[in-house]
Amino acid sequence: KTQVIPFQDGHASMKALLGGKGANLAEMTRAGLPVPPGFTITTEACLAFFKTGNRISDELYEQMTTALKQLEKQRGQSFGDAINPLLVSVRSGSVSSMPGMMDTILNLGLNDTTVQGLANLTQNERFAYDCYRRLIQMFGNVVLSIESRHFEKLLHHLKETACVEQDQDVTAEGWKALIEAYKQCILTQTGRAFPQNVYEQLRMAVEAVFKSWNNSRAQIYRKMNRIPDEQGTAVNIQSMVFGNMGSNCGTGVVFTRNPSTGENTFFGEYLINAQGEDVVAGTRTPLAIQALKSEMPGIYEQLFTASKQLEKHYKDMQDIEFTVENNKLYLLQTRNGKRNAQAALKMAVDMVHEGLVSKQEAVGRIEVAHLDQLLHRGIQEDAIKDVLAKGLPASPGAAVGQLVFDADTAAEWHRAGKTVILARSETTPEDIHGVIASEGVLTSRGGMTSHAAVVARGMGKPCVCGCEDIRISADEKQMLAGGSLLKEGDWITLDGATGRVIAGVMPLQEARMTDELLVMLAWADEIRSLKVYANADNPEDAILARQLGAQGIGLCRTEHMFFSPARLPVVQRMILADDKEDRLRALAQLLPMQQSDFEGIFEAMTGLPVTIRLLDPPLHEFLPNLEDLQKRHAQLTYDQAGTNVERDEVANLLRKVQALHEANPMLGQRGCRLGIVFPEIYDMQIEAIFRAASSCTDRGIRVLPEIMIPLVGHANELKIVRELVDFVAEQVLGKDKLRDCPYKVGTMIEVPRAALTARQIVAYADFFSFGTNDLTQMTFGYSRDDAEGKFLSHYVDHKLLPHNPFQVLDTEGVGQLIELAVNAGRLIKPALKTGICGEHGGDKESIFFCHLTGLDYVSCSPYRIPLARIAAAQAFI
Ligand code: ADP
Ligand code: MG
Ligand code: MG
Repeated sequence: KTQVIPFQDGHASMKALLGGKGANLAEMTRAGLPVPPGFTITTEACLAFFKTGNRISDELYEQMTTALKQLEKQRGQSFGDAINPLLVSVRSGSVSSMPGMMDTILNLGLNDTTVQGLANLTQNERFAYDCYRRLIQMFGNVVLSIESRHFEKLLHHLKETACVEQDQDVTAEGWKALIEAYKQCILTQTGRAFPQNVYEQLRMAVEAVFKSWNNSRAQIYRKMNRIPDEQGTAVNIQSMVFGNMGSNCGTGVVFTRNPSTGENTFFGEYLINAQGEDVVAGTRTPLAIQALKSEMPGIYEQLFTASKQLEKHYKDMQDIEFTVENNKLYLLQTRNGKRNAQAALKMAVDMVHEGLVSKQEAVGRIEVAHLDQLLHRGIQEDAIKDVLAKGLPASPGAAVGQLVFDADTAAEWHRAGKTVILARSETTPEDIHGVIASEGVLTSRGGMTSHAAVVARGMGKPCVCGCEDIRISADEKQMLAGGSLLKEGDWITLDGATGRVIAGVMPLQEARMTDELLVMLAWADEIRSLKVYANADNPEDAILARQLGAQGIGLCRTEHMFFSPARLPVVQRMILADDKEDRLRALAQLLPMQQSDFEGIFEAMTGLPVTIRLLDPPLHEFLPNLEDLQKRHAQLTYDQAGTNVERDEVANLLRKVQALHEANPMLGQRGCRLGIVFPEIYDMQIEAIFRAASSCTDRGIRVLPEIMIPLVGHANELKIVRELVDFVAEQVLGKDKLRDCPYKVGTMIEVPRAALTARQIVAYADFFSFGTNDLTQMTFGYSRDDAEGKFLSHYVDHKLLPHNPFQVLDTEGVGQLIELAVNAGRLIKPALKTGICGEHGGDKESIFFCHLTGLDYVSCSPYRIPLARIAAAQAFI
C-alpha cells in the first residue's frame, strides 16, 4: 500500500491523506510554481504507526528511502554524501490547520562530514556551520525532548564572549565552537551522542513528528476546535532551500490581504539572510514586505504575482511562506489565512464584488461561530492582565461592574445608578430581578444550559457560569478567586465569549452591525428557505429582534412577565389565594398588565406572527424557597422573634409552599397540566391576548397571534385548552373582528409521547413547535439542571457522546422524534406549520437539521438571529 506520495503526484483534493500542507505543496507543484521538490508520508501511515506501538514499519521505511532516491535524482545530490549532500526538512502537516502546534526539523542530513561538503560547495563555511547548529538544536529539542533553554543559554554565552549581538554576526569559528557545546549538551542530557548516521536522523525525525500529534498543546488545540484525534498528521520531507546564505537570500511570510482588517492590500514580513523559523521566533525584527520592493524588485514582483495566482486558484485569502536563495524565489507553504471575524466578512464581500466567488460561496464560508464576536461588546485584548479564573463561556459579550452577591442588592445598587455584576453559586428564577439589574452574571455552579446561562443569553447579557475555581460566599458577601479575596463592591470584568473572569475595569469596544455584515445577511436572506423567528418576552426584545431580522416571534414566555418586581406580589397572591374568588381578584389585577405587554409586542411585530406560550413553570417557582422559609419559620417560633402577625403569615406561607412542593417538579404540575386544573389562569391569559389583539387591530396594527400550549402529552389535553381558546376568542372579539384577527392554536412538542401520538394531536393543532430543551431532557432522561455538572461533561470528555445534547441537537435520537411528528402531522394537515424553539434554534448544526427535516422556522434569542440567518442559508447551499 502506498504510504509515500511525491509532491508532483499529489493534488489539493487529497487533503485527508496528505494533510493541508502536503496537499497544497502538491497543488503548487502542479501549478508550476517554484516549490522545492519533496514527498509526503500519508496520515494513514501515521495511524498505522500509532497502531503498531509507535514503530515505523519496514514497508514504510522502504518506501521512504525509495522516494528519497528519486529526490536525490531530481536534485542531483545525494543524502549523506561528503561532497554534494542533499539536505531536507521534515515537516508536520495535519489535515485541519493547527498552526504552530506540531513540530518541524530543518537541515536534516548534516553531520560532521557533510557539513564540510556543504561548506566547500557553497564556498561559505559560516553558512554551512550555521545550518548545522540549527539542526542540532532543533533535533535536540524536537526529537530528543531537550528543553530549548539549554541551547539558548549556550548560544547566549557564545555571543557574549564573542561580543556580538546578532546571530548573523557570529563567525564560522563561533558556530563550530557552539556545535561542540551543543553535542556535549545532548550527550549529558540524554546519554547518547547526536546521530551522525543521516538515515538514523531521518527515521528518528519522522517518528518524532508523528508523535508530536499527541503532544499536549496539540491535544488541547484539537479539543478546542473540535478536530478529531483520529485524523493523525502527515509528514513532508522536502529538499532544503536556504535563506541564510548571504545578503541576496531571505525568508518571510505574506498574506494576500490584510488578515486583521480584510483590506485588499499585500501584507507581510521578511528577513534578509535568515532561515524560516527566525521570522516567527522574534529574535530579529522583520521588515514590512513593502521594503522588499526596493531591496529585491524582481523577487517582489514574482512573489506578488504568485500570491495573486494562488488567491485566485484557492478563491480565498492565502497565507504564504517563501524563501529566497541567491536571488531565486521558492514557495514553501500556502494555506487559507486565519482572520478575525470582521476581516472575514470584508474579504468575502469584496471577493463577491471582484467576481472571485459567488454570493453563495461567500455566505457558505462565514464561520457562524465567529459572528458572536461581532454582535457583542468585547474586551480590548491587549489590556487584559489579571485573569482570576475561567468558567464556561455561557453567553458572549463583555461586562464590567461592581460585584454583588444577591439579587436584591443588585437591584438596589442598579436603582442607585451603579453598574453591577451578580455573582451567585447558582441562580434561580427568583434572582431574575437581579439578573435584569446586572451587566453580567457569574456563577460557580451549573452548565451552559443552567438557568443563569439560558436567561442571560435570552437577554443578551454576558454570562460566565460553572466557574468552579471560584468560591462564593453570599452570607459573607465575598468570593475567593485565583488566590484573591474579592468583596462586595469590587470591580471585575467578565468575558462571556471565553469564560474569563478578570480583576478590575477592562476597556471595552462596542459591537456594531457593519455594512459588510448587513450585505452578507441580505445575501443569506435571498438564499435561505428556513424562516428565522425570535424568542422574545417583552416589547423591547421584540423591537430588537425585528431590527436583527426576525420574521416573527416563535416563543414569548408569559411567565417572564410575572417575575417583574411590581407583579410578583400579585402573582403570589393569586397562587396563595384561599378560594376561587380571591384568585380571580388577583387574576383580574394581572390581566391589564399582561394585556399591555402583549400590545407592545404586537405593535413591534405588526404584520408578523407572534407565538405566545401560556404559563409553563410550576407555581412554586414564583414563591419563596422552601428551605429559606423553614429557616425563617424556625427562627420566628423558637427565638420568639417578630410579631404574632408576622409569625402567622410565615406559617401560612410555609404551609402553602409545602403543599405545592413536589419531589420532581420538572415532571410535575406544570404546563397545560396546571392550566387544566386551574383553568382561570389560562382563561385570564387568553383574554389578555385577545383584548390586546382587539385594541391593536382598532389602531390599524395587523396582529397574527399564535397561541401555544406547553407540555401536551395527550391529544385530550390540547382539545380542552383549544376549546377554551376558541371560546374566549369569540367572546372577546365577536364574530366580525374574528375575521380581521386570524389566530392559530398549536402545541409545543416536548414530551416524547406527544411526538409519538402526533397523528392524534394534530387534529387540534394549527402548528407544532418543538421545545427541544424539554424534549431532549425527557428523551434522554437527563435532568437539565443536574446532568451537566454531574456526568454530562464526563460523557462528552470521554466521547461517550459527541456533544452536549442540550447545546447541539441529538439528531439521532431526539431528531427521530421530530421527524416522526412532522411527517405524521403533515400527512393529515399538509400545511401544518412547524418550527423549533429552545436553545438549539441558535446552533448551526441544529439549524442544518431543521432545514433538512423541512421545518418552517427556527426560533432563537434575538442576538443569535444574524447567526441563524446565515446558518439557514448555509443549510440551503
Ligand atoms: P510550521 O507548520 O510551524 O509553520 P513548517 O513546516 O511550515 O512549520 O516549517 C517551519 C519553517 O521552516 C517555515 O518558515 C518554513 O518555511 C521553513 N521551511 C520548511 N521547510 C523548508 C525547506 N525545505 N527549505 C527552507 N525552509 C523550510
Ligand atoms: Mg509553516
Ligand atoms: Mg418546555
